[in-house]
Amino acid sequence: MDDDVVIGGGLAGCVLAARLGEDAQVRVVLLKAGGADTSMLIHCLAGLALMSKTRGINWSLQTVPQPGLYGRRGYQPRGKVLDGSRSINAVISIRGLRQDYDG
Ligand SMILES: Cc1cc2nc3c(=O)[nH]c(=O)nc-3n(C[C@H](O)[C@H](O)[C@H](O)COP(=O)(O)OP(=O)(O)OC[C@H]3O[C@@H](n4cnc5c(N)ncnc54)[C@H](O)[C@@H]3O)c2cc1C
Repeated sequence: MDDDVVIGGGLAGCVLAARLGEDAQVRVVLLKAGGADTSMLIHCLAGLALMSKTRGINWSLQTVPQPGLYGRRGYQPRGKVLDGSRSINAVISIRGLRQDYDG
């Protein structure tokens, strides 16, 4: 029996852990920071506006000072909850057109 450890319960981590777990010969541990995705802010679309400042479910990261922005730092929200940034994103889905990528 193999043991696999997946660190980070975001979009990629959850998919990876689920796919690895399909093999009965593999035991999978998913390590994640933050809690369950039970906040009303996640499940109510209007919550998106408030989530940017909610540290419990958002890492609320800052970039290093950006020379191109006169040394200012950029705000970088990232989900700190099961399903990661997917839980705090805008759920906009765009299918790319092949000819756009070819161009
Ligand atoms: C505000 C916002 C809006 C967005 N809007 C859209 C949109 O409309 N449409 C769209 O397609 N995409 C959108 N995105 C992008 C999309 O959400 C991300 O590209 C996607 O969720 C990234 O998945 P991931 O698995 O790579 O990372 P994440 O989902 O961020 O997963 C990383 C996981 O690792 C965990 N982690 C980090 N450090 C540790 C640690 N030390 N120990 C344990 N766990 C740790 C985090 O808590 C998190 O759960 C948006 C993103 C944000 C932040």
